[in-house]
Amino acid sequence: MSTVDAELEVAEPSVQGSDLEVTAAREARVGDMTVRRLLPLRLRRSVGAWCFVDHYGPMSVDGVAGMRVPPHPHIGLQTVTWLISGNVLHRDSLGSEQMIRPGQLNLMTAGRGIAHSEESPVEHDPLLHGVQLWVALPDAFRHTEPAFAHHADLPSAGIGGFEITVFAGSLAGARSPALMFSDIVGAELAARRDASGNIPLAPAHEHVVFAAAGSAAVAGTLLRPGQLMYLGTGRDRVAVSAPAESRLFLLGGVPLGETLLMWWNLVARTPDEIAAAAADWRAGRFAPVADYDGPPLPAPPLDVGRLVARP
Ligand code: MN
Repeated sequence: MSTVDAELEVAEPSVQGSDLEVTAAREARVGDMTVRRLLPLRLRRSVGAWCFVDHYGPMSVDGVAGMRVPPHPHIGLQTVTWLISGNVLHRDSLGSEQMIRPGQLNLMTAGRGIAHSEESPVEHDPLLHGVQLWVALPDAFRHTEPAFAHHADLPSAGIGGFEITVFAGSLAGARSPALMFSDIVGAELAARRDASGNIPLAPAHEHVVFAAAGSAAVAGTLLRPGQLMYLGTGRDRVAVSAPAESRLFLLGGVPLGETLLMWWNLVARTPDEIAAAAADWRAGRFAPVADYDGPPLPAPPLDVGRLVARP
């Protein structure tokens, strides 16, 4: 997924407590799709190392092209692609070509630089519903070699009617095989019936929870799609209930403690790094993505003087 707009600004918290706040997504455009952008927030650039959360759909892509995200660059992050319905084809500048389906993980480590495209294949499922997440690479790892991994078989745990699939880190005894670079957790909670339970948390982690389908009561507060709940550190569990068929996401990690500079699809620390990567993209110095039917995505205009790093 790619951000179209250069500035990643969203709303202020609508509910705020000592360690719990609920914020509303803002609408953003990704190609022809309207998405709910839940993170980053103006006052919270990251939760653990999670620094970007888009939720899109469910939408009909029957008889239309569907997702069309042309080749674009990333630096300094990992992209986590997760579908609830549908199928999407990933191609990248390493030569990877991978279809992803619900319950599977596409994990792309940009490191010092990678380019990729994402699209609905010519023959695709009629419904598309998913999330696009980014994980900031900690400073010590952000210039690592680019890599791509597909995990079709992920561990799960059951709690109170929730089927919990762990795609990053570990939760409730299930550990994802995905290679992450910070102490982090990411899981999907699918309510197989009217579900209710205490989800164990690592007290050193901060977390966010959101509903992608249905609704959820989290720590006594109702959440619907388009809302993000933040939970601060120091909790060893959270009470969650949701009606059957609801689909929730839990993301968390040890607070990153680093000031990120995010612009377009680039995560860095200084304006000079952003400017250099944008110039590299414009000059064709990223390796190309083969076989995408169309031109690459141009970088938006960059005003280096307006770039401000925020924690
Ligand atoms: Mn992308």
